[in-house]
Amino acid sequence: MLPEAVEAMTEELGRVGNASSLHTSGRRARRVVEEARETIAAAVGAGPSEVIFTSGGTEADNLAVKGLFWARQAGRPRRRIIVSSVEHHAVIDPVEWLAKEAGADVHWIGVDELGRLRLRELEAALAEDPDGVALVSVMWANNEVGTVQPIAEVVAAAHRHGVPVHTDAVQALGQLPLDFAASGADCLTVSAHKIGGPIGAGALIARRGLELVPVQHGGGQERGVRSGTMDAPAVRAFSVAARLAAERRPESALRLAALRDGAVAAVLAAVPDAVLCGDPDPAGRLPGNAHFTFPGCEGDSLLYLLDARGVECSTGSACQAGVPQPSHVLVAMGVGPGVARGALRFSFGHSSRSADVDALAAAIGPAVTRARRAGLAAPGSVR
Ligand code: PLP
Repeated sequence: MLPEAVEAMTEELGRVGNASSLHTSGRRARRVVEEARETIAAAVGAGPSEVIFTSGGTEADNLAVKGLFWARQAGRPRRRIIVSSVEHHAVIDPVEWLAKEAGADVHWIGVDELGRLRLRELEAALAEDPDGVALVSVMWANNEVGTVQPIAEVVAAAHRHGVPVHTDAVQALGQLPLDFAASGADCLTVSAHKIGGPIGAGALIARRGLELVPVQHGGGQERGVRSGTMDAPAVRAFSVAARLAAERRPESALRLAALRDGAVAAVLAAVPDAVLCGDPDPAGRLPGNAHFTFPGCEGDSLLYLLDARGVECSTGSACQAGVPQPSHVLVAMGVGPGVARGALRFSFGHSSRSADVDALAAAIGPAVTRARRAGLAAPGSVR
């Protein structure tokens, strides 16, 4: 967390007050929450009444997908959900749940080899039966390979047919220019812990008048769609991080991109057959993201070898019944399952320094050599 966010949260944790209570402490807590709402709204180009606080990106994605789907069943039921095939599981899993439990008909939209949405497929899926579409959900930027999606075109295509759009902007906040009003999206997800705020705080930014059926029922907080006592300390710390993320973004995006470019150059120098995934054009990818596949390696082995040398990264693969599965994002981009198993993502944030890139540059070559030896020795080698 950013020190400023820690300070705000710590101060608030020492105070008492439920923001829904009418007594003095409650009214004070309410002021904290409403000031935070204004700050976050300003940071994302929204109005304060459009901010619905949640426990993070996962909850905001669930509220958007389920809440919009259910709201669009009134009158003429609209069963179709159009969604990109590279979404985070916080979108994919509620969509699959709706298909299984609520009769949703899911239309997955493919991506090209850089991970960018195929707009023609989206347009065709919309045109097939525009009145039967409940919602479109396409992320602003991908969390694994960092590819930025053409959100303006997605919104224009969906709105031509009167279909609402949700976009998961968890990765975009603080890294890319983000303006909810200008984007035209109907709702947008953000999460505090990606910008130096606390884990367990986030928001769904939902335009005024957008109908959402609540996922969670209770005291009727947050426009009646997200019941639960407000977490004033987390919300305040989130607002501090959001303000700083917006203020510092132009300069920090350049700094992150320089670190990322240094890391890409160092990895390719040490491992010439490593493949950079996602958009090689810096304008088309998140400044803080570098993603590679390392032929002949298991990503998990590489991860542990790098971790032992103080370099912490991520594979993006999920584990099912103890067996690593290739990332659905890479598979959607046409990467073969064997190659996808050798994937690693390096992310840079506000605490990353050039010494971190140096550590990666020193560790990656020996780690790949060892992981390849282990891979060759293992039955069912990944080559
Ligand atoms: N969406 C994306 C694109 C993410 O990267 C993440 C977290 O990594 C989430 C949603 C989930 O957010 P949270 O961890 O706040 O629940």
